[in-house]
Order: sequence, then C-alpha cells, then structure tokens
Amino acid sequence: MEKKKKNIISVIVVILVICGILAAVARCIYNVKGRLNIQMQESLVDMANQNATAMEKQVEAIHILLNGVATEFQKDEITSIKAKLELMKPYIETYNFKRMGFIDEKGVAYTTDGYQRTLKDTTCFDKGMKGESYASDRIIDSLGEAEEINIFSVPVYSKENTIVGVLFATYSADDFSQMLIQDIFNSEGFTFIMKPDGTVVAGYDITGSMGEKGMIQTLIGAAPGNREVVYQIMNDMQTGKSGSQQIYYNESYYTYYMPIQAYSEYNDWYLFTVIPESLFADQFNVVWYDVQRMINVILAGLSVVFVVYFVVTHKQNQLLERLAYEDELTGGANYACFKEKLFEMKPTGGYVVSVDIGDFRIVNTICGEKAGDQLLVNIWDVLQEMLQDGDLAAHINADQFVLYLNTDDENGIVDRLKITTMELHTLVEVLNVPHVMPYYGICALDSYDSLEKVYSRASQAKNRIKTRRDSNYAFYDDKVFQQAVDNKRLEDGFEDAIELEEFEVWYQPKYDTMNGEIVGAEALVRWRKDGELIPPFRFIPLFEGNGMIAALDEYVFKNVCRQQKMWLDEGKQLIPISINISRASLFFSGIATRYEEILKSYDLPPQYVQLEITESATLENDDITSLMNKFHDTGFRLLLDDFGNGYSSLATLNTMNFDILKLDKSLIDYIGDSKGEVLLRHTVELAKNFGLNITAEGVETKEQVTFLQEVKCDDIQGYYFSKPLPKAEFELLLKIA
Ligand code: C2E
Ligand code: CA
Ligand code: CA
Repeated sequence: MEKKKKNIISVIVVILVICGILAAVARCIYNVKGRLNIQMQESLVDMANQNATAMEKQVEAIHILLNGVATEFQKDEITSIKAKLELMKPYIETYNFKRMGFIDEKGVAYTTDGYQRTLKDTTCFDKGMKGESYASDRIIDSLGEAEEINIFSVPVYSKENTIVGVLFATYSADDFSQMLIQDIFNSEGFTFIMKPDGTVVAGYDITGSMGEKGMIQTLIGAAPGNREVVYQIMNDMQTGKSGSQQIYYNESYYTYYMPIQAYSEYNDWYLFTVIPESLFADQFNVVWYDVQRMINVILAGLSVVFVVYFVVTHKQNQLLERLAYEDELTGGANYACFKEKLFEMKPTGGYVVSVDIGDFRIVNTICGEKAGDQLLVNIWDVLQEMLQDGDLAAHINADQFVLYLNTDDENGIVDRLKITTMELHTLVEVLNVPHVMPYYGICALDSYDSLEKVYSRASQAKNRIKTRRDSNYAFYDDKVFQQAVDNKRLEDGFEDAIELEEFEVWYQPKYDTMNGEIVGAEALVRWRKDGELIPPFRFIPLFEGNGMIAALDEYVFKNVCRQQKMWLDEGKQLIPISINISRASLFFSGIATRYEEILKSYDLPPQYVQLEITESATLENDDITSLMNKFHDTGFRLLLDDFGNGYSSLATLNTMNFDILKLDKSLIDYIGDSKGEVLLRHTVELAKNFGLNITAEGVETKEQVTFLQEVKCDDIQGYYFSKPLPKAEFELLLKIA
C-alpha cells in the first residue's frame, strides 16, 4: 500500500516537472520565432548592400586592369599588333576572360583567339573612341559561335594622349554571371540581375531560368497576388527606387532589389537578392530541433530511471536470461549468442561483415516505428537466406547486423552481398517503405580472439563507405586505418601539446627589397613531439578539419605577443611579426574581440603583430567584412596570404580592405618567363593602385630578387635570404641575442 502511494506521488511529480519544462519551452520558442524573423529581414538588406558593393568593385577592377594594359601599349616594343596580342594572352587564363582584343582607329579588331574583323559599328568602339570606358549587357558574340558574352572596354591612348584605339576583354556571359551572382544563406538564397524591361542579365531568376524575359509573365500567372507586386517592382525600377517585396512561385520568397550604381552610366541593372520564406522556418527548425533533443534527453533520462527502477524491483531473472542470447525483435541470435557460437567453432579464417541500413531513421520517421521494426525482421530473414554452412548472423541493435562468412573467397563474398543487396531492395515494394540501402564493411578474421578488433575494423570500413555513393561494400584497408590511427594520435596529443608547450614558433624574416634590411618576419608553427619535429602540413589540415586550429592559432598569437613584449621590455629593436589565421578560426564568433583582449593583456602596441588571412578564407565567410573591420579597429594590419595560388580574384584586392598582399610562390616562379613576367608586373601595379604593400613569398634565386627590385615590390620572404629559423637563431640574425 505504502509503495503504491509512493509510486503515484512520484508519477505526479514527474508529470508536473514535464509540464513545467514544456511551458517554459513554449514561451521560449515564441520569443525566438519573433526575433529570428526581424533578424532575417535585416540581414537580407545588409547582404544585398554588400553584394552590390562587391559587384561594383568587381567591374571597376576590370576597368583598372584594362587601363593598365592599355598604358603598356605606349611602349615602343609593343607597337605591333602581334606584340599587343602576345602581351594580352596571359591575362586570359589568369582572369578567366574568353578573349581580349584591340580595335584600331579604323574599327578593325584583332583578338587573342585569332579573329580580324571590323567592329566599327559597335557601342564598345564608339564609346572607346570618345574616351569612355564601357561594360556591356548580355549580348550575342558576333565572333565565333553565337554564345552570349559581356564585353568590357577602355580607350587606348598614344604617348601624345590621343585616342588610337580601344582595348576590350570579353567574358562568357555565364562565367561573368558566376562571378557576380552569389549564393547566400548556404545556397538557400540567391541573387540575380535584371533590367527594367524584365531581361535577366546575370544569374538564375526566381523561376529557375536564365537570361530570358519570360519570368515576368510566368510570375504574374503563378499567383493572383503577384500581378500587383510585379507592377510595383517594374515601376520602382523605371524610377530608380530600391524596395522589398514578397512574391510567390511554388513557394513564398522575400526579395530586396536595388540599382547597381557602377552601371548607371551605361546600363540600368538591378540587383535582386532573394531568400525563400521557408528559410525562417528552417532557422526556426534548427532551434526547435535542439529543443526537441533537449526534451528527449530529459524524457529519456527520466524513462531510464523508471525502467531501471522497475527492472530491478521485478526480478525477472528468467526473462533476462533469455534476453541474454535471443534478440527480442527478430527472435534470432543476438551478439552474445553470435560470440558464443563463434567461440565454439574456433575459426582460423573467414570474414566478419558489419551490416547496416543507410538512413534507416527515415523509415522510422516516415512510416512509423512499427513499420521500421517489421523491416528489420524482414532484413533479418533475407540475411538468414544468404548464409551457408558454417556461417553465422546476429542482430546487434537498431539497424546493425553482423555476419560471419566461413569462406576465404573474397570475390564470392562480393557476389553474395550483391545478391543480398538486390533481395533487400525488393523489400521496398513488399513493405511499402521509402528505401532500403544496405552497407557492408568486410574484414578477415584469423581467430576468435581478434573478433572484437575485426568487427570494429569491419564497421570502420563500412562507415567510410557510407559517405561515398559509388559502392555499398568495402574491405578493411590497413593503410587507411594507419592514417586514421596517426591522425587520432595527433588529435589526442593536441591538448597536452598545448599545455606542455610542444608547439614551437619559428620565424622567417622578411627583407626590404631595395636595401636588404630585415623589416619583418612570419611566425610559422612546428610541433616537437616525442623527439620528432613535425612540419605544419602534417597537422594543420587535420586541425582545420576538427576545429582545433582555433586554439592553435591563438596559441601562436599569444606566443608571438609574449615574445615581442619581452624583446620590447629588454629594449630590443622590434619588427612586426605576422601570424597565420586559418579559415576555420575565422568562423569562431568573437575572434576579433578575443585577439584584441589578448593583445591588451600583453600591453603590446598592435603594429608589432600582423594577421595573415588567405583569400579562400574570405570567400567562405559571410561576415568577413565586419570581422576585418574589427581587426582594423584594433590596429592590426591585415595580409592577404597566398595570392595567385589557384583562385584569385580582382574583387578581393579591391573590396576586402587588406593592407599587404603576399604574392604566392607559384606567381614568383613565373619569373624568367616573359609573358608571366608581364602578368606579374601588372598584378603588382594593380595592387599598388589599390594602395596595397607587396611581399613576395617563396623567393629562391638571385634572378627573382632582381626582377622584384625592378618592379618595386616592397618586401621579400624566401629561402634566398633565409629559411624559417628557431627563436635563438632568429635572435642571432637580428643581432639581438
Ligand atoms: P604559408 O602561410 O604560405 O607559409 C609560407 C610557407 O612557405 C612556409 O612553410 C615557409 O617555410 C615556406 N617557404 C618560405 N620561403 C620559401 C621558399 O623560398 N621556397 C619554398 N619552397 N618554401 C618557402 P611551412 O612553415 O612549412 O608552413 C606551411 C603552411 O602551414 C603555411 O603556409 C601556413 O599555411 C601553415 N601554417 C604554418 N604555421 C601556421 C599557424 O600558426 N597557423 C596556421 N593557421 N597555419 C600555419
Ligand atoms: Ca602565411
Ligand atoms: Ca603564403
């Protein structure tokens, strides 16, 4: 009696607690929903403004580049058409132009891809001869196959300052579109450019088509409310106004549109930034998902307490005994039973196969758990059918199964698994479930004693294959395993390494190009682990992948601050030292504030530590502009690292507000090649135009140094002068030891 009462009271208490939690959660969700909505609307306008600025700068940058090349034409050795074309060629690949060309005074065009044709009646020629720069709409290419293109042109002046022709560069319209338009909000939103007459100039419009006028009509027909909205937008575009509207096409979208200023001289382009309304719901769902998980954890915790309580009090030993060997769901063997039988068999060969079903959760979610359970029972039956003499199978839990195949014929195993896969596919129709895709990881067994190890390796092989789509089975591979073990060793050692200060900062000096004095250095990390010096390429990518890099970057930053402060206090002559910030570190919100605090804690003036950021890092991070502004506000100088290595964009030079450009070794290696040198010369000139200082990286030869002196590159970093040095040697070099 007493006990019953107690039970009832505890049930009531649990129910009250659950109700309390649910009420608090509901209130919280309501607040979050409202705030998310406002935030999203605001960030839509912000994002549109940022995109517009980036685009304007992009076009401006192309004109600056062309003007640079046009000036080059004044040189005596560049008078012939042939020399002009040779000069233009390297730009095509680097900046992804379709072609470049020169139109002479008479209107005859000569292009890098071999055309010689009159372009007398073109706007590009007309404007150029009047001394105007020009950027075209999407137009049909009159040379070559009739592809759509965008043309950019500038006038070419003689030494006497008369106009002697027009220089132009052509983008394939699709390439140009790709440069301008941007995915936003993880590709859920997008941008496109439209003219007031309804022509989409760049990007995919709301209906998913490209470069057509049809969108307006399609949208008007798509929903009754659209007509008024579309007319309002067209009206705003005629009168040069910006605005935001909600529009329907299959789903509801918010769009913000604004004119792009740089084009207003020649064009009337409007930038549309679009996000689906469902994004609000998505954002909310993320929160909701977390809340659900939290509730689930709490409920699961409570349930576990109850279950344990009841199980312990009701001593059902017999049932437990049966459970020990029988799988409740399938009625077949469980893992304990599998092990027992294998132990009795004393195997000396054969293979263990770890099996599970991809996205099994979906079946449970869509069809309900009952259907999920039924599917598992049927899968079990199919697996039973594929067994031969001396084979074993067990249901481990959920959608996990294990097989022991008593054969040494690997090909035979693959064939049998393929047939089993086909059998399992037929369950889709039999049970009316959305999909059944089994994955198998296979590993050879030598004796019962290694079963656990072999099963875990088979599972590893299986998990690896799941992320790929080309195959559903994999044999365990020792090399992949070894690599994973090495990586694990590095990952596991990371925290201790930070604590024990196993990471060493080495310094590579930077030299003034003109007088050869040391004017700065780059801090480069090495890991002294178990007596071995591990180079950064071995661990940086790994730590970038798992997020640990943020802690490492901060460690290096602190280390450099402390060192500089010590030198400063000792009255040593200080030079600025740059540290590398990985793209992954930049994703940690608050990094700018954090670095500012650290700097202050060492009481070190900001000019002594500079920050290196790669271009790719800026491309992936939506908040990069404000982040860079914050770094600047603290007083840090920012270096654009690895410029010219792979992807490089004119827009980054212009829009990103860097102070110093680091030319990547791959560009420096052009020196000695005449076309490459011209390109390098112009890249330096262009960067200087944007007010950037220039450091050349990876400089190894005297010839490279001479060239860099000639183009007035500011600083040089490279093996020619010095490799990265440990602190003590660096001090000797600086003569401050
Ligand atoms: P990075 O930032 O581009 O650094 C320059 C790399 O080029 C260094 O390699 C340097 O030793 C090497 N180098 C300099 N001059 C020459 C030369 O004349 N010839 C050749 N062949 N190489 C030269 P290192 O020290 O092995 O660093 C490799 C990369 O690891 C760095 O490339 C950087 O991306 C990363 N890294 C190093 N330390 C850190 C760090 O503290 N944080 C982060 N996030 N990354 C770091
Ligand atoms: Ca660097
Ligand atoms: Ca670099």
